[in-house]
Amino acid sequence: MTAGGEQALRSCGDCTACCQGWLRSELLDMRPGKPCRHCSAQGCAIYAERPQDPCIDFTCAWLHPESGLPEDMRPDRCGAIVKWRSRWRGWETVSALPVGEKIPDATLRRLVDYARERQQPIIFLQHEVEDGEFTGSRHLATGTPAFIAQAKNGLRTEDVW
Ligand code: SF4
Ligand code: SF4
Repeated sequence: MTAGGEQALRSCGDCTACCQGWLRSELLDMRPGKPCRHCSAQGCAIYAERPQDPCIDFTCAWLHPESGLPEDMRPDRCGAIVKWRSRWRGWETVSALPVGEKIPDATLRRLVDYARERQQPIIFLQHEVEDGEFTGSRHLATGTPAFIAQAKNGLRTEDVW
């Protein structure tokens, strides 16, 4: 996906992580293990007619320099897509999706530090794979004790804060 129109945004460059199924779309029938059928080696085959949602509307946090995510945290390089300005039950959160089965440990540690610096909880997804098939996903989360107390009712919380 290329986010156009806003000069302040970074460029996706060679990254196509959100077209590879790591961002879900019912409209495009893409999900983990099933990339968008329009994604080709030359880029998006229907670029001029690509749908508004998610193709034009979605910009990951890395595209926004004000996110503070460094260059090497581009999703295809670090293994995680961080959503831009995510919220959960009134909390501003860092929300991350894996590019692949799981967010690599080193990237997850950096994202937890990133969330702590901002005093925001982090919610992240990890997929389950059996015999090469994506069979399910689960949301994990961590944050301050106040967040954990609230999140326990809806998310599995991890003690990695
Ligand atoms: S994940 Fe971000 S950088 Fe990568 S293609 Fe999507 S919007 Fe662009
Ligand atoms: S339609 Fe194009 S921009 Fe949208 S997900 Fe598919 S390949 Fe990416």
